[in-house]
Amino acid sequence: MCGVFGIFGHPESANLTYLGLHALQHRGQESAGIVTSDGEQLHAHRAMGLVQDSFSQEQLSHLPGRSAIGHVRYSTAGGSHIKNAQPIAVDWARGSLAVCHNGNLTNAEELRAELEARGSIFQSDSDTEVFVHLIAASKEIAFEDRIADALSRVKGAYSLLFMTEDSLIAVRDPMGIRPLCLGLLPSKKDAHVIASEPCAFDLIDAEYVRDVEPGEMIIIDASGIRSARPLPEAPPRACTFEYVYFARPDSKLGGRSVYEIRKSLGRTLATEHPVEADVVIPVPDSGVPAAIGYAAAREIPFEMGLIRSHYVGRTFIEPQQSIRHFGVRLKLNPVEPVLRGRRVVVIDDSIVRGTTSRKIVKMVRDAGAKEVHLRISSPPTQWPCYYGIDTPTRRELIASSHSVDEIARYVTADSLGYLSLEGMVSALGGGDGFCHACFSGQYAIPFTPSNKRQMRLVGV
Ligand code: SF4
Repeated sequence: MCGVFGIFGHPESANLTYLGLHALQHRGQESAGIVTSDGEQLHAHRAMGLVQDSFSQEQLSHLPGRSAIGHVRYSTAGGSHIKNAQPIAVDWARGSLAVCHNGNLTNAEELRAELEARGSIFQSDSDTEVFVHLIAASKEIAFEDRIADALSRVKGAYSLLFMTEDSLIAVRDPMGIRPLCLGLLPSKKDAHVIASEPCAFDLIDAEYVRDVEPGEMIIIDASGIRSARPLPEAPPRACTFEYVYFARPDSKLGGRSVYEIRKSLGRTLATEHPVEADVVIPVPDSGVPAAIGYAAAREIPFEMGLIRSHYVGRTFIEPQQSIRHFGVRLKLNPVEPVLRGRRVVVIDDSIVRGTTSRKIVKMVRDAGAKEVHLRISSPPTQWPCYYGIDTPTRRELIASSHSVDEIARYVTADSLGYLSLEGMVSALGGGDGFCHACFSGQYAIPFTPSNKRQMRLVGV
């Protein structure tokens, strides 16, 4: 759960990276960082917190140069600490290097142990630092060959940006699990931009050119832009959860509009789990397009029966007296006139532990709903993700140990229906180019018993 942004060949590289990260804020709120290059050296600033709180105008003015990379982080591997904030910037025998990463490596622990045994000293606990040490240890001469050599050792999901004093290099893992897109600033024909999602281009008036292909390396330097394929080919496995929940609905991934896909998930859900009802409401924001699709397919009015507060950060103040639905109510509040006396279909994107769904169902019922039918626009989440989405351990996922009927009883819904795996894949256009391991347990990159992090997640 991270976002990356890079730009090459623009005098305002730090400012534009700041704006790009702003548009990617939904991908990580824990820390933010930007590293720029003025052609001779790198300049870095990283901080804990949101993008807007991490950079002042003055701090941005101390990041000179025509190229930059930036990162927003939500920790999936490595703790929540400034030492794990990215981009990582280091000086090494060949100059300076910065790197940032979205994804998780499945063999990071083994590689780290091997590198430490050979004398590498790590400064952080994040997977990303493994790349730096592998690059430094490589026997290859050219920088891009060193990156390819390093990547030949790693397994897992990665959308990566590297920056040296005079180049920007983007790489997407051979299965294309995490997204990465290429854009161009039309006002500066030679200013190329790279981002996790194209919604970052819109804010800076850049044009979306195309997705970075799975296994592709894009090198941008003074001689222009070129593409290389240094990694062995693998069957593509784009993350389905990006479409279901994670990506912004105004983004396009793999040529598909996330908004349209979510509507289509809702339409398919309506076909699989119809119910007689008076109103369809989403759990905002991510449930909105699926609810529109469900309501249209069933010809039931769509209404906003829950309103989301957009100003919720972390709260440390809890009332001493118990307040009904506190926690969920910080984020969501019911609209009673929409719900009172009605048979309500509530559309959400997923159920993780079940505790939030239970509170939402109760909140809707307490606001006067006659019936509450919960519909989920993805299959039951039964398995943890090892590829960069923050999920709890298998034991904590309610669907790993409970049937749909048991979950319905736990969340106190009158009925519960999940989208089927086949329905989800067909709404995505069909084919087997997708990862759906958190729903199916079919991990494209198998884990090994030696990987302690994975074994912890799976509860062994
Ligand atoms: S396991 Fe789930 S969340 Fe993780 S990459 Fe695969 S589809 Fe995405």
